[in-house]
Amino acid sequence: MIPGTCNADIERFFERWFQLEYSESGLQWHLLLKSVRGVLRVIDKLLLGNYRFRETDFTPNIDYYRELASSQHPETLWIGCSDSRLQTGHITQARAGELFIQRNIGNIVPIHDWNFATVLEYAVVHLKVKEVVVCGHSNCGAIRALDKESTDSYIPLWLNNAREAKTRVDSKISPPKTLQEKDDRYRMIEQENVRLQIEHLYTYPLLKKAVDENRVAVHGLYYDLGTGELKKIA
Ligand SMILES: [Zn+2]
Repeated sequence: MIPGTCNADIERFFERWFQLEYSESGLQWHLLLKSVRGVLRVIDKLLLGNYRFRETDFTPNIDYYRELASSQHPETLWIGCSDSRLQTGHITQARAGELFIQRNIGNIVPIHDWNFATVLEYAVVHLKVKEVVVCGHSNCGAIRALDKESTDSYIPLWLNNAREAKTRVDSKISPPKTLQEKDDRYRMIEQENVRLQIEHLYTYPLLKKAVDENRVAVHGLYYDLGTGELKKIA
């Protein structure tokens, strides 16, 4: 340490230097200091991640993002699960502006739901998407929850939208005994749920009309968390 100074003085000195050197880059001093000290909180990591995003992606592609800022023309409406392990843009390598996304627990298409209906109407009527995707995935907690008793207030009600998928699969197979059979059963329900939610999609007249007129195609996809593979199942 420099004689006559304390850590606070040194920090102030570096803060002034940092502000002169990096203030225009957007990296905030307090985040860098926390990073050096190893005391970053989760929200700080997200903000630092955004800094890196701007440095490595946004700024080098500034023309693309500026044009995108003025309007969006996605060609796909993607309906997927909220699961944190599914990074929709990442697993499809879709860039910002390519996917219009509706995510919820269980990649569900509720039949009477203002939120979903609004997303669907905006995507089909105004954005004029050409593809509508319902994407399920392996190890889906929502599907496993169909087997459990719950005292939650909202989750069981929401999952009623997927219960038919479980009923259909259980009517076709014997009760699973081994771990493998149990896993296979869940995969079957996860995939049947994709087909069920597509059926729900067709209950919306605006979607059915768009499909009948060949303006929109509907696809069922399934993502395997264990292999990273996305495949078409419907
Ligand atoms: Zn899920």
